[in-house]
Amino acid sequence: MAAIPSLSSGPLRLACRRDFNRLRDSALVMTAPPSDPKPVRQCDGCTLCCKVMSVAAVSKPMGKWCPHCTIGAGCNIHEDRPGECRDFYCDFLLDPRFDERWRPETAHFVMRTSHASHWIGIHMDPQRPDAWRREPYYSKLKELARQSALTQLVVLVFIGVRAWAIYPDRDVDLGFAAPGDKAVAKLVMTPRGPQYEIVIGRAEAQNV
Ligand code: SF4
Ligand code: SF4
Repeated sequence: MAAIPSLSSGPLRLACRRDFNRLRDSALVMTAPPSDPKPVRQCDGCTLCCKVMSVAAVSKPMGKWCPHCTIGAGCNIHEDRPGECRDFYCDFLLDPRFDERWRPETAHFVMRTSHASHWIGIHMDPQRPDAWRREPYYSKLKELARQSALTQLVVLVFIGVRAWAIYPDRDVDLGFAAPGDKAVAKLVMTPRGPQYEIVIGRAEAQNV
């Protein structure tokens, strides 16, 4: 059984290294990036993570534009931006497999893989919550889901505090996470072979 760290001190703190302050007790919070991430491309005017992700250091909630952002241009406090912003690299910057169609401002989501948490997080622009269902994205997410038993990475779509688990043959609405909830990945045998499946362990049940 692989466990994703417990959900968080807030309603499903979505994922990214920007939530460093909550990493110790958060669940759907991304882990720290590699110590020496090597981006293969530049943001080039994309600023979507400055909207989608939460940034504790500037009291920015998820889904709201950071007051320091000039949309489509960049950060107005670039030299003094928080460490959590400095350290952030989305998958589009790091992974050469994703072409320009996957640029977050084009795709309308920020993709971030956490090997430590065993997931690939798709963090939606709240104004385009269904964009992940379009092509070429949907087919690729299904491909990644089919590979989950091999990669030990489950595919989760986050729309605000609501999460969806993406499986090869279906998409499951996991609902809204509450403080203390945990996301747990179980390896199960399916007609297609072994696959990871996600369940949310509710904090109330865990405390009984
Ligand atoms: S989402 Fe990725 S490409 Fe866009 S600004 Fe953030 S790090 Fe750069
Ligand atoms: S401080 Fe700068 S880099 Fe960080 S979220 Fe705000 S605009 Fe983006």
